[in-house]
Amino acid sequence: MTPSDETAYPALYLKRGEDTRLRAGHLWVFSNEVDVKRSPLTGFEAGAPCVIVDAGDKPLGIGYVNPNSLICARLVHRGIAHALDRSLIVHKLNVALALRTHLYTEPYYRLVFGEADGLPGLTVDRYGDVLVAQTTTAGMERMKDEIAAALLKVIKPTAIVWKNDAGIRALEQLPDYADLGYGELTPPVLAIESGLEFEIDPIGGQKTGWFYDQRANRDLLGPYVRGARVLDMFSYLGGWGLRAAAAGAKEVVCVDASAAAVAAIGRNAQRNRLGERVTAVRADAFDYLKAQREARERYDVVILDPPAFIKRKKDFAEGRLAYRRINEMAMQILAKDGILITCSCSYHMARATLLEAVQQGARHLDRHVQVLAQLQQAPDHPVHPAIPETDYLKGFICRVTSA
Ligand code: SAH
Repeated sequence: MTPSDETAYPALYLKRGEDTRLRAGHLWVFSNEVDVKRSPLTGFEAGAPCVIVDAGDKPLGIGYVNPNSLICARLVHRGIAHALDRSLIVHKLNVALALRTHLYTEPYYRLVFGEADGLPGLTVDRYGDVLVAQTTTAGMERMKDEIAAALLKVIKPTAIVWKNDAGIRALEQLPDYADLGYGELTPPVLAIESGLEFEIDPIGGQKTGWFYDQRANRDLLGPYVRGARVLDMFSYLGGWGLRAAAAGAKEVVCVDASAAAVAAIGRNAQRNRLGERVTAVRADAFDYLKAQREARERYDVVILDPPAFIKRKKDFAEGRLAYRRINEMAMQILAKDGILITCSCSYHMARATLLEAVQQGARHLDRHVQVLAQLQQAPDHPVHPAIPETDYLKGFICRVTSA
């Protein structure tokens, strides 16, 4: 079936002029852009496929609708030559896979990064033969069976987990759940980065199990950490900390608030024979930094890779302050001319605003910051130039000197 057959998908008509952003590359339709006289949103079920049509009756392409969401439709494919089905997903997966196999020698990466891979509302991480997938829209949720079938065809995994517990699903009125969608899981499931093995928990872990977005940034650690005492704050399973130890740090302390994460760091350190140089501590980051300052502890390198302090725009002021505070606290325990690696994965925290927070903290302590490298998400999380939301991760490697 194609949308141009007599069983065509129903049309979602845009108001005059509201096709401009989509023609410029964007994929989202907001509910106030729809000509609801011609195509009432109430006429669509959540997740239903549609043809997105401009006010002059020209179809832009096929997508799906959610009448209950502010982003009420997403464009999945331009033109109307294809149906929204398994074979279209297979095609898009092959395009996504080609990039990753070009970038990486081993099958450990983000395979699908939503909009930027032409599959809005779908994320898939790959851990060898295990895939962890997440849908964040009703349209993708409705296509779960086709997605699974397409993944089986293209990747032939031994297991597919649906990690559908992201908070953002609430915007589409989707329930939270995490379960095995296909095959069998035989632990341990591993993420492999630069020869290091990390045990991940595909069902109970955070997000989709591992933060591949920082991989290219962790690749830069070498020259900064050799022989150094390193503090990895918000360490999760020890991604930064263990990579630092493997790159020659003499001592690494990983800190995370999650007991499960801290226990996993211990196992991961043992698994990679780094146990002697790596300690994992369960603590609140702000409390820990304060206590370290009071104890006059010093680190050559402090890594700050926190969760998003700004999840929604309305949290901006408070979140920005949290970035400012945590960066200043980190600088207070830096050794002379120490290295601060600071990151933010909050889309609403602009790159310039993060640097400003770092600089303000430094000046408050009468220190000077030199930016040595600017960090962004790894290339298996490509940025879609028309969709700023896909460009979310920013960071800096800084040297912090005294006057
Ligand atoms: N740096 C990690 C990813 C960090 S995700 C990596 O590279 O893989 C954010 C982590 O911060 C989570 O593991 C979460 O448990 C932890 N966290 C959240 N709030 C915290 C707090 N107040 N203090 C310490 N850890 C916290």
